[in-house]
Amino acid sequence: MSDTLTNKAASFNDIQTKDIKHHFSPFSNNKELAEHGSRVINKAHGVYIYDDNGNKLLDAMAGLWCVNIGYGRQELVDVATKQMKELPYYNLFFKTTHAPAAKLAEKIASLAPTHMNKVFFTGSGSEANDTIFRMVRRFWDLKGQPTKKQFISRKNAYHGSTVVGASLGGMGYMHEQGDLPIEGISHIDQPYYFKEGGDDTQEAFGIKAAQSLETKILEIGENNIAAFIAEPFQGAGGVIVPPASYWPEIKRILAKYDILLVVDEVISGFGRTGEWFASQYYDLKPDLMPIAKGLSSGYLPIGGVIVGDRVAHTLIEKGGDFNHGFTYSGHPVAAAVALKNIELLESEGVIERVKNDTSPYLQKRWQELAAHPIVGETRGLGMVAGLELVKNKDTKERIAPDAKAGGICRDFSMANGLIMRPCGDTMIISPPLVITKAEIDELVEKAVKTLDETAKYFNLL
Ligand SMILES: *Cc1c(COP(=O)(O)O)cnc(C)c1O
Repeated sequence: MSDTLTNKAASFNDIQTKDIKHHFSPFSNNKELAEHGSRVINKAHGVYIYDDNGNKLLDAMAGLWCVNIGYGRQELVDVATKQMKELPYYNLFFKTTHAPAAKLAEKIASLAPTHMNKVFFTGSGSEANDTIFRMVRRFWDLKGQPTKKQFISRKNAYHGSTVVGASLGGMGYMHEQGDLPIEGISHIDQPYYFKEGGDDTQEAFGIKAAQSLETKILEIGENNIAAFIAEPFQGAGGVIVPPASYWPEIKRILAKYDILLVVDEVISGFGRTGEWFASQYYDLKPDLMPIAKGLSSGYLPIGGVIVGDRVAHTLIEKGGDFNHGFTYSGHPVAAAVALKNIELLESEGVIERVKNDTSPYLQKRWQELAAHPIVGETRGLGMVAGLELVKNKDTKERIAPDAKAGGICRDFSMANGLIMRPCGDTMIISPPLVITKAEIDELVEKAVKTLDETAKYFNLL
């Protein structure tokens, strides 16, 4: 994209060379990567990661929205070591269980909304959504309503990258590769006020976006719809925070029809909003919640589905065998690390601190960026935030075609030692929950410098 900033061609080190030759990188243009080489990250501590050129980067994305507890926690290393020595692996299929899975399930149920008491473990968020797809259809079969099969999701949603995950997601650039979405999934409008709000007030737009759910329900027929799935706020779509009117209207519509609610908590779970789950922040009553990412703070791969009593009761009382599971469902080492991660978040008061202290501070400082000449909007909640890059604040005209400004801004940000992620022309952050106020100041200072440089690059300053 911006060759001038990243091109270090012809000076690849050993790891970069191996990577170019043999590693097929996810969500990447592998041909371009082969020209420029990937940045090699080799250590991390707190909210910082380090590359093998000795650059220190403030990781304002917490990896991929997951390192909630921050990097370098010895307690997690110790618990993994101990668990590996005792029982590195056993499965949960054949009338067996183990302490890490049982204890973690109990802990998660104690933190989840009170009507959610069972946890099914997976290896990732995508697998959690695949699991939900099967659980929900099985649920309606058992209820004697087998026509209720279809899922309603939203445009620009992200629910993972497996066939079901990508189909539930609303990303056009994913759908166009591999003939997705699969049948039985449709996508309604997203509550993206900056882009689609037009002349409406936030309030009116939120209601309108929510009502596209009712329109779709009436079109497909209540008797054909199994569930509505949504992120509480969209993450990968660009930190899209719905207007305050949105969720109450969705709740009103869902209460009218017999349709399950799946709240995708893969990003928002484990403290991101200042509550354990965003379902508590927004007072939602989900039937199912996929989780992953912050569950283990990314230290080991683990995900799951928190199952509400209504669905669990039917599947368990009437369902017989549930013919679904993964070799690594509830992996003992991953589960032990996840449990310790949650215990640390609890015992160190991380989530209360986010709620009462650091997230109000982050949001206040982030809002200051709205005054910058190339920022059309700032938004956020808890420990996530986004801003829109524009040339003209009034018309919202973008700086350059094809979201070029977002890529340039990311490159300047990296050069300034700050990891911000572009989603088109939206720059987003989701820092570790342990970030301090001093580190938030550093983040904002680096973001301002980055915005200045981006503006100058396009002759806008
Ligand atoms: C990341 C993500 C997923 C997929 O999780 P993986 O562990 O990458 O499979 C699902 N839903 C949301 C909201 C996510 O952000």
